[in-house]
Amino acid sequence: MSHPERNSRRDFILKSTAVGLAATLGGAPRVVGAVADQFKAKKPAGPVVICSRNGERAIVKALEIIQSGGDALEAVVAGVNLVEEDPNDTSVGYGGLPNALGVVQLDSAVMHGPTARAGSVACIEGIMYPSKVAKLVLERTDHVNLVAQGAQDFAVMHGFPVEDLLTDRARERWVRWRENLSNQDDYLPAHEADEKGIGSVYQPEARTWGTIHCSAIDLAGNISSVTTTSGLAFKIPGRVGDSPIIGAGLYCDNEVGAAGSTGRGEANLESLASFLIVERMREGDSPQDACLFACQRIADHTKLARLQDENGRPDFNVKFYALNAAGEVGGGEIWGGNGTFRAANSEGSYLVDLAYLYKSE
Ligand code: ASP
Repeated sequence: MSHPERNSRRDFILKSTAVGLAATLGGAPRVVGAVADQFKAKKPAGPVVICSRNGERAIVKALEIIQSGGDALEAVVAGVNLVEEDPNDTSVGYGGLPNALGVVQLDSAVMHGPTARAGSVACIEGIMYPSKVAKLVLERTDHVNLVAQGAQDFAVMHGFPVEDLLTDRARERWVRWRENLSNQDDYLPAHEADEKGIGSVYQPEARTWGTIHCSAIDLAGNISSVTTTSGLAFKIPGRVGDSPIIGAGLYCDNEVGAAGSTGRGEANLESLASFLIVERMREGDSPQDACLFACQRIADHTKLARLQDENGRPDFNVKFYALNAAGEVGGGEIWGGNGTFRAANSEGSYLVDLAYLYKSE
């Protein structure tokens, strides 16, 4: 039997959450969960695929699978697998830059619109295709996130080999980073044997970010997403970025659209920006406007001086990519001017300009 007092308290909580959430998202309070008019009765809108810039081959593969009737999740994962196995992409899978101890630790997440389910792995070692493992977490467990050894054990259980993912190219970058880190330890960067003033040869190695995100709408109008990465180069072992966190590295709602990110994961994690973008699109924002809204939110939340330039703006970049259920695409980044991402439809793939908050020099 229902309890009147408990029900009315529950109603109050639901109502105040709705108003609170709408206020958080900006603008006048609206009923949370309402879908903006442009998505109603519009399905199907596929094929549509979006991908970060490094997904040249991934987007073609995903489009091919969708055009032959495949599900969007199958398509995006097969697409990014090409980048995960590519030793030349140092930001994803095999060949990805390692952590501070020289170990490649990978993060990935997937989300399947029709079932509204998600799966992810974080800090997984020795498995070349973390996105496939994330898809198996979604399909073959009652969980959402598996990490580290548990994620690897689960992959092995499903027949994945454990492989050495550290290429020579990535190892050499890590050695350079380690040797140039400090002149107070015993690792020395390359120098002449009799060189005096060894301190002057230290050259800090850039710590790069890099990731691939891919979202798609299939011929049935269903939406799915994947993000996969080796994360921040030379990170503290065990660090989890935004990529495998549902709502940060990606988010997907079959009725509204999908969004994903690349760039400084810590900033995105503190704003759950992919979720924010999808919720903005639910309220009627275009994909591009929703991405810029998320960039602005991150800029507004960047309050520490060590993360700001001399004008108080974030001194890092984050990029977002989005599509809505009507098939429109858009993207945005904090710092830009000539950034692009990839999109594809039944006519093939093309580059789209990323909107930006601040123009890079
Ligand atoms: N967002 C990823 C991370 O922070 C890296 C990247 O996209 O560049 O792990």
